[in-house]
Amino acid sequence: MLLSQATFGLPPTRVDKTEVDEAITSYLISLQRNGQICGDFLHSLCKGKYVAYAYLARPDATQKDFYSQYGMKDLELIRQLFGSDPSWEVLADEVPNNFHDFSTSSFLYLFSSFDGASPICCGDTGEPLPSYLIPIGDDDRERLYFWSREYNRMDNIWFSSGELEIAAYQQLASPHSLLAKQGMELAANIEAVLKKPTYYFLMRYYGRGDREQNRRCPRCNGDWRVTYDGNESLRFWHFPFRCVECRLVSQMADAAYDPEWAHIGEFQPLPQEDNR
Ligand SMILES: [Zn+2]
Repeated sequence: MLLSQATFGLPPTRVDKTEVDEAITSYLISLQRNGQICGDFLHSLCKGKYVAYAYLARPDATQKDFYSQYGMKDLELIRQLFGSDPSWEVLADEVPNNFHDFSTSSFLYLFSSFDGASPICCGDTGEPLPSYLIPIGDDDRERLYFWSREYNRMDNIWFSSGELEIAAYQQLASPHSLLAKQGMELAANIEAVLKKPTYYFLMRYYGRGDREQNRRCPRCNGDWRVTYDGNESLRFWHFPFRCVECRLVSQMADAAYDPEWAHIGEFQPLPQEDNR
């Protein structure tokens, strides 16, 4: 992600400041929902010109080819107000010359991090695949953004350990939660388009000590343990659990022994109508 600056220009004459602020905000939100901007953005009138600061997913993220229909509509309003397109400049010193070629990825996984990067990641390197580069519909791309935002909210609620701690954990760690079902649907959609196995990452925190090694797939009760070469240095995307059939990956429990909540994320026979 590259810190960048957008310069819109001098304040338009005979236009209310609120209207200008709303147009800029709407434009930036469209880029954000389309995966061109990662995380939050800032904008203000500085030294007589309207400017914005945001993290671009890649240097080419604001090329017109990558705009959604909503982004184009907002851009048109910016053009009407300022008389030209905003000019984007990458401010970050370190700009990679090359970016990962996702056509070589052996698999992808859906996982949301707090930095606002795309939740679709390469299973070989962990790198996020900017969603504006995924050839899905504009609304599907926005759904990916909204899912990611919801995941982060749940993660925050769980992490703050308040009254909804376990309810939020259940959303993150059970394959039967609404959040997980929506995520698996998004992953299946992306797999259908990119023709690459796309897994859903299921969080695991509360565990059962040594018995964690033997945890079965929480959807099909199948054996999903993956072992790696002992000499390999393992990273986050070297998932110890992967069910090819259910397209789920998961991690070892962080809290090694906490049987009170360990059942969340374990196989549970469900009533017939939910047992899909
Ligand atoms: Zn399974």
